[in-house]
Amino acid sequence: MKIGIIGGGAAGLMAAATICENASAATEIFLIERNLELGKKVLISGGGRCNVTTGIRDMRALFEKYPRGAKFLSSALYQFTPEDVYAWFESNGVPLKIEDDLRVFPVSDNGHDVVYALEKKFTEPARVKILLGHTATSIRRTEKKFVIDFKTQPKIIVDKLIITTGGQAYRHTGSTGDGYTFAESLGHTVTPCAASLSSFISRDAWVKSLAGVSFDRVSVSTDRSTPIARAARITGPLMFTHHGITGPAIFAFSAHIAYEPVTPATPLNIFLNFFPDKNLEEVTHMVHDACALNGKRTIVNVIATFIPKSVAEIICTLAEISAEKRAGDMNKKEILRVSETLRALCVCAIGRGAGDEFVTAGGVALNEVNPSTMESCVTPGLFFAGEILDVDGFTGGFNLQASWATGRLAGKAALSS
Ligand SMILES: Cc1cc2nc3c(=O)[nH]c(=O)nc-3n(C[C@H](O)[C@H](O)[C@H](O)COP(=O)(O)OP(=O)(O)OC[C@H]3O[C@@H](n4cnc5c(N)ncnc54)[C@H](O)[C@@H]3O)c2cc1C
Repeated sequence: MKIGIIGGGAAGLMAAATICENASAATEIFLIERNLELGKKVLISGGGRCNVTTGIRDMRALFEKYPRGAKFLSSALYQFTPEDVYAWFESNGVPLKIEDDLRVFPVSDNGHDVVYALEKKFTEPARVKILLGHTATSIRRTEKKFVIDFKTQPKIIVDKLIITTGGQAYRHTGSTGDGYTFAESLGHTVTPCAASLSSFISRDAWVKSLAGVSFDRVSVSTDRSTPIARAARITGPLMFTHHGITGPAIFAFSAHIAYEPVTPATPLNIFLNFFPDKNLEEVTHMVHDACALNGKRTIVNVIATFIPKSVAEIICTLAEISAEKRAGDMNKKEILRVSETLRALCVCAIGRGAGDEFVTAGGVALNEVNPSTMESCVTPGLFFAGEILDVDGFTGGFNLQASWATGRLAGKAALSS
């Protein structure tokens, strides 16, 4: 039997490794990759350290990390859990560590070790024909086979085909969305795609002036009235940049509202709450007491006892209070305005960071793929795995976990179907 895998990223590598682990010598595997190296995105993931998976063990908590596709993923994730992924890499020569925030990395902090562990599977003994620098241009279904066409190389004919071409984020890594066209040509629906895990751009001058200022815990929300936007409220680390706002809380927030338009014509008000654990009354008390205790100091210096001074200055400006006003002269209304601004500093976002999103929301429609095997319900013998599917997760190892799990399932099922 000949099995073709198009895309040598996380899902394709795991599918190929799984087939190697389980196949007889008669199985021929073609791993087709347009780049001259495998796992280009794996290598840059987690800032080059490769956040392989998560330390979360509770499956319900795990499913909550996927804003889209959790139900579909459940079978794959139960069959290859984060714990299984951890064990798989450790038993294949990559010692791992779980950091305090439950992200899992190689002890070496080097993504190359992860890719190398997978590659090793293909060469001991040599089982996989790795076709680097091969860009598939189209796929044709003949009666029982798949014909893969290339621009400059001869076509390849296989019995089973696994498409793992990824999404269309970070296109320079090779994931340019080709797989969507292949899927459509084989009878599949591709749901609308959108950027997820992105930063936001703001044209507010004050936002740029705070570039480099970061917070460990800010609550992020919006006043956009759609039900999804109303429900999106994320608490976590955040950073101001020269262009706008970024950080884990912003990434998770962007995932929730991936399909909300954010443009100069349709700007999005993003509210930052610097005291997510206090209600307005409590913050007002806090500010009031600080003013009473430090009556001779300027209000900006009093606010700066809670948050960085550069942000305190912005709070004063936006609350329309002179930064130099004595704290003891603040009246009730002014204290309330400061408190409200501390709980809802409005950043006007006019776009998402262009091309800097980590993943693509949307993809091959999940109701056309068998969640227990990753096989197409439309075209037998065809499988999908990884980011090409209409699934996406938050930051923290959840996207790679989904790619390993679906890749493993597709590899196993392609062998046995
Ligand atoms: C900067 C960055 C950091 C990230 N960090 C993390 C992290 O730390 N943890 C985490 O869980 N997730 C992270 N992610 C997300 C994660 O890397 C992806 O979700 C995951 O790699 C997707 O795997 P995949 O195999 O589906 O697709 P990809 O890894 O995108 O692989 C697809 C492959 O298919 C190839 N291909 C495409 N079209 C063709 C064609 N026509 N012919 C031949 N080959 C083709 C591409 O060249 C590519 O190598 C990060 C993403 C980015 C961009």
